[in-house]
Amino acid sequence: MFQINENNQSKYACLFASCCITKGENRALISDTQRGTFELIPNDMVTFLEHAQHHNLNSIFTMYGEDNKDILESYLDFLLQDEYIFLTDEAIKEHFPPLKKQWKSPHIISNAIIDIATYSATTTYYNDIIKQLDALRCQALQIRSYTTLTIDEITHLVTAVKDMSIESVEIYTSFSELLTPQVLNTLLFEHTKIATIIIHSAPYVNDIEVIKGLSTIHFTEEVLASEQCCGIVSKKYFNPNKDVFMESQFHNTCLNRKISIDKDGFIKNCPSMRNHYGHCSKHTLDEVVHNEKFKVLGNITKDQINVCSACEFRHVCTDCRAYVEDPSDIYSKPLKCGYSPTTNTWEEWSENPLKQKAIAHYGLNQLIKA
Ligand code: SF4
Ligand code: SF4
Repeated sequence: MFQINENNQSKYACLFASCCITKGENRALISDTQRGTFELIPNDMVTFLEHAQHHNLNSIFTMYGEDNKDILESYLDFLLQDEYIFLTDEAIKEHFPPLKKQWKSPHIISNAIIDIATYSATTTYYNDIIKQLDALRCQALQIRSYTTLTIDEITHLVTAVKDMSIESVEIYTSFSELLTPQVLNTLLFEHTKIATIIIHSAPYVNDIEVIKGLSTIHFTEEVLASEQCCGIVSKKYFNPNKDVFMESQFHNTCLNRKISIDKDGFIKNCPSMRNHYGHCSKHTLDEVVHNEKFKVLGNITKDQINVCSACEFRHVCTDCRAYVEDPSDIYSKPLKCGYSPTTNTWEEWSENPLKQKAIAHYGLNQLIKA
């Protein structure tokens, strides 16, 4: 247990630069962006850390008074134990400035989605799109098929990516008896750009790690019936890494530098959006990414979004601009989030009476019932 004494009272409590704090309405989140972990802390602890930037421990303990000595000691104990802070001298503290808030990317497009309802018989269709994504220095590609892809079709898609800038591919396909773990295992060993294959609508659940830390196969009973299944906000998708944390300060955590081709071939920010920028048979992806309107959604930050702006999870959370609580207000909270930063509780979003109008607007009723 930490105790203030003559050996440490002249020290300063210095936050490790990789540990970032997000203050919410009632509590805060401390994210260790290097380790990829986060913990909830009281807002009072944040105030204490703010004071600690400018005052040594002796001054702070004097400022807070004897009544608060135990609580300050417990804060320091927690912060030191979990390695969020270190104690240092005033002269040395200046050598540990906080992390500069900035985000840069060499990718014109960093991530893309290609949706498939029925696999195109025109073999050049996917090759053309992938070549265009390569020219935009796309890094990650998600291919989502709402029906079953054969092993030949999957092989064709990943072969098209082989010598391209795309570094990782995530494939969703519906279950088939022919897509066995053995067959998929072989495919992942042959095509190392495949990060994940998700077999949805499966009769069982199975998670297989094929190459340690690099590629996985997931069989899930969840049904991916259409693009309407996307957009769910959940704790399991929170990502406390430095890149996401910094990107979220300036851009949208889902739509920044994302481009999508929906199941009918229309170019969009995301396949769930009604608005499109033309058909890929008539327009190039390059034309679309230079359209100023295309960039608007990618620059909406969590700090600008109603409710999210007061949420302690906002810089580790995903976002969704395709399904929002108030469809007439693009700055309203994601519809499929059940968290309230006011009560600090999670609820099933689809059962909230205040969301029913938006659920009907987006035609999600059937999906929810299923
Ligand atoms: S905006 Fe929403 S629906 Fe579109 S890709 Fe992002 S999370 Fe999914
Ligand atoms: S309110 Fe929901 S969507 Fe918004 S930041 Fe918090 S958890 Fe994420």
